[in-house]
Amino acid sequence: MKIPFSPPYIDQDVIDSVTESLHSGWITTGPKVAALESELTTYLKAKSVVCVNSWTSGATLVLRWLGVDKDDEVIVPAYTYCATAMAVMEAGARPVMVDISSKDLTIDVEKIKQAITPKTKAIITVDIGGCPCQYDKIRELLAEEEIRKQFSAKTEVQEKLNRILLISDSAHAVGAEYQGKTITQWVDVSVQSFHAVKNITSAEGGAICLNLPEKMGDAEELRKYFKLMTLNGQTKDAFTKNQAGAWRYDIVDFGMKINLPDINAAVALAQLRKYDYLLEERKRVFELYHKLLSEYHWAILPPKSNNNFKSIYHLFPLRIKPITEQQRNQIIENLSKKEIATNVHYIPMPELTLFKNMGYKIQDYPQAFDAYTREITLPLYPQLTNQQVEYIVRNLVEEYYSVLNKNQ
Ligand SMILES: *Cc1c(COP(=O)(O)O)cnc(C)c1O
Repeated sequence: MKIPFSPPYIDQDVIDSVTESLHSGWITTGPKVAALESELTTYLKAKSVVCVNSWTSGATLVLRWLGVDKDDEVIVPAYTYCATAMAVMEAGARPVMVDISSKDLTIDVEKIKQAITPKTKAIITVDIGGCPCQYDKIRELLAEEEIRKQFSAKTEVQEKLNRILLISDSAHAVGAEYQGKTITQWVDVSVQSFHAVKNITSAEGGAICLNLPEKMGDAEELRKYFKLMTLNGQTKDAFTKNQAGAWRYDIVDFGMKINLPDINAAVALAQLRKYDYLLEERKRVFELYHKLLSEYHWAILPPKSNNNFKSIYHLFPLRIKPITEQQRNQIIENLSKKEIATNVHYIPMPELTLFKNMGYKIQDYPQAFDAYTREITLPLYPQLTNQQVEYIVRNLVEEYYSVLNKNQ
């Protein structure tokens, strides 16, 4: 039985939605994007949403709006996809990596506190696997007198905000909740990814979800600003400019070209409209893994949704107790020979060449490294049948005992 790691969910509704876009004669940013932005605004309880062509470009734009330079620092967890730090570098600042909590693999709030300096301009939290960070603690920390006093503003936007900007990397977490509120409601800006492997996809894409405090300006004005900044700073999008007589435009700021095409939005829109169903199916798979693996003392299971938070079951990051990195690699290898595709989330960023060359050292992130060496991410998507999940677990258990030379 061949089991891919994370195929996209493409059904007739998705195909119809894209076909509609193709037949409409308008394929780039237009009505489909507008509908997606409007439905995401409601679903995520954002003040407004602006779609972009990737998480990376969206986060970069937010940091460019904040205005950061090489002397500024942005705190990120060491255990994430490299884009979290690369957006910081793309915007011109220095990523400051901190370790994670071994409990749920999210950023360690105590470590954030230790890393804050007068140079800190923003924090990017990562809701790993669909599990939200401890936003109550993070907000409390940012509200502390001592922390607030340290903040020194260099740009007009920073002056208005007068504190560290809180951005969530919600690439894994579209729709997750913490203490009854959406993640967007907990942060200033949450950025989503609609890359092909995410819960909702547009092949490539993302969304900037704004929840800035009122003093930062009128929500509609901010939406318009971010929108035009995704279109080279141009005052009219191509759809509007294409209407008869509406040819004149201006370039009002140094924007980026990172708008989401309608063809892509059509995919995400059809998925968002059946997201409740997709989440039910993900939950079914997640809970079956939990049930089947809970009898093994060596399996450390990712947290289930509880009174405190609602996961959206993006990943199933299993950790295995007494195991070396080589043994973990061997299990993955053996499973792949049986055509079961698994993955590792994540190689900590300090282990990647780019960041090593910049001077980051893995020894500074013991929890991230420990999680990495014993982690195997199991396939998790709506299309997986119970029978396939049982098959995956049966083979995983078999390979665990075989690689560790133990009797079952
Ligand atoms: C996928 C992912 C990203 C990058 O998203 P893109 O849309 O590909 O730019 C960033 N952070 C995390 C945690 C991700 O998983």
